[in-house]
Amino acid sequence: MKFDPANNLQDLNYSDNHKGVNPAITDSSTFTFDKAQDMLDTFEGKSDGLFLYSRHTSPSGQFLSDALAAMEGSESAHVTASGMGAITPTILQLCNSGDEIIASRTIYGGTHAFLQNYLPKFNIHTKFVSPTDVKEIENAINNNTKLIYIESISNPLLEVADIPTISAIAKKHNIKLVIDNTFSPMVLSPIRLGADIVVYSLTKYINGASDTLGGAICGSTEFINSLKSLNDGSSMLLGSVLDPIRASSITKNLRTLHLRMKQHSNNAMYLSRKFEEIGIKVSYPGLASHPQNHLITKLKNEGFGYSGMFTIDVGSLEKANLLMETMQKVNIGLLAVSLGFYKTLFSAPGTSTSSEISIKEQHKIGIGKGLIRFSIGLDHDIERTFQNIKSCMVSTGILNNYSANKN
Ligand code: PLP
Repeated sequence: MKFDPANNLQDLNYSDNHKGVNPAITDSSTFTFDKAQDMLDTFEGKSDGLFLYSRHTSPSGQFLSDALAAMEGSESAHVTASGMGAITPTILQLCNSGDEIIASRTIYGGTHAFLQNYLPKFNIHTKFVSPTDVKEIENAINNNTKLIYIESISNPLLEVADIPTISAIAKKHNIKLVIDNTFSPMVLSPIRLGADIVVYSLTKYINGASDTLGGAICGSTEFINSLKSLNDGSSMLLGSVLDPIRASSITKNLRTLHLRMKQHSNNAMYLSRKFEEIGIKVSYPGLASHPQNHLITKLKNEGFGYSGMFTIDVGSLEKANLLMETMQKVNIGLLAVSLGFYKTLFSAPGTSTSSEISIKEQHKIGIGKGLIRFSIGLDHDIERTFQNIKSCMVSTGILNNYSANKN
């Protein structure tokens, strides 16, 4: 049967002693045992369904973890206090001193900074490669390589990784493939495409309310248990745990993710097509002009579009800043980092989410100074939004009147 992440969530049942339609929120950091032996067994990981201490797992966290595992088609999942709280223990769990990582050079700035600036003090080094050049990825592998780290749709350049091919390379060399799928939940299901581990910033589309941070790691039960090991688990020992109240609110928001992704995607497709028509330089994986449009069309699940992120390049940082300020003034959206909100968010990656990457490197990988990243909102009347943005482009001199009048 066809894999459908939305069906998997729809079919979940939450059993609750009080017959509430939502699972009760557990408000405890610690849990009691009827028998002392049960406590010992739980410490040793030998008991099922018992809880010990909420830094390990809380019942509310477990509900959300189970839902995310169902959505991804992974054996297990573990939720964390932020996306970085998912990414960093995943990498630390897989790597030891002397190991090497191969990572995409276009990734979220915080992840880039962790790999480039932080891990070398543990003698773990990273080679940065193009996520679309599978030969470059394979050539970078050596005996010390432990993992390949890639974003399924990269931040901010929206390059799409060929996950099945990269997975085959990783398997051939016995190394792990970790995919950050933050930009494309439901659109892509990386575990189904061959990834070993999927990480998320739940802060973005999955929660969708810009009211909390959160993260998740999806993978095999063996790997998830290793992260939670009391003796040497990176999640357990570094302590980035999701609060049960937040876990519960994210679980509820997750139920509308399929509807939100459809609307974000439809709106992004509409606007990016219109921008292309009026001569704006736009990059969106759903457009035929996008270099990996064929690839993502082949890889994606049906019914959720191509996600809600696109970029335009208006030539200079001054113009980008002026356009963003003007759009915010007339209430088209908000000049803010992050993504997946009901309102459109825009920022210039070079001076925000990718500012951890040096200017020289930004230039090399194609993050232009005039690049604006849009996370398109859930706007009901997207033609109205297009007309409003177009007016801003005219009033800021980015679009001349002639081409503006034509459409
Ligand atoms: N991964 C991606 C693709 C991101 O865009 C971000 C944050 O912007 C993160 C991970 C980090 O997530 P968080 O801010 O929840 O720690």
